[in-house]
Amino acid sequence: METSAHILGGCPFGRNAEEGVVGLDCQVHNYPGLYVVDASIVPANPGVNPSLTITGAGRVRHEPHTAQILTEHKSL
Ligand SMILES: Cc1cc2nc3c(=O)[nH]c(=O)nc-3n(C[C@H](O)[C@H](O)[C@H](O)COP(=O)(O)OP(=O)(O)OC[C@H]3O[C@@H](n4cnc5c(N)ncnc54)[C@H](O)[C@@H]3O)c2cc1C
Repeated sequence: METSAHILGGCPFGRNAEEGVVGLDCQVHNYPGLYVVDASIVPANPGVNPSLTITGAGRVRHEPHTAQILTEHKSL
């Protein structure tokens, strides 16, 4: 019988370092500038295929960062 597993968790979201590893902005608590944006931030099995959720978190995370870089480097 074939099985597959979605490997999730390990650096879960949490409001603070007691509750999780990363905050809602995917930044590691107590480590400013260190971000985790992959399946490890999903705190529990969402019951659905996870890749769109992971991709969405990545997009939410990188867009303001990319916008800031583009603003700073208008010549790019
Ligand atoms: C067989 C299978 C079927 C699946 N089917 C579905 C599905 O139908 N729908 C769905 O939503 N999810 C599905 N999943 C789950 C989904 O693929 C994962 O949840 C998702 O890809 C995890 O995203 P990620 O960014 O955490 O890791 P990944 O997508 O694995 O990305 C990690 C990336 O990091 C790279 N990498 C690794 N080590 C290093 C290193 N040292 N330096 C630089 N790069 C590195 C890897 O090459 C890879 O490109 C499936 C998973 C498997 C295994």
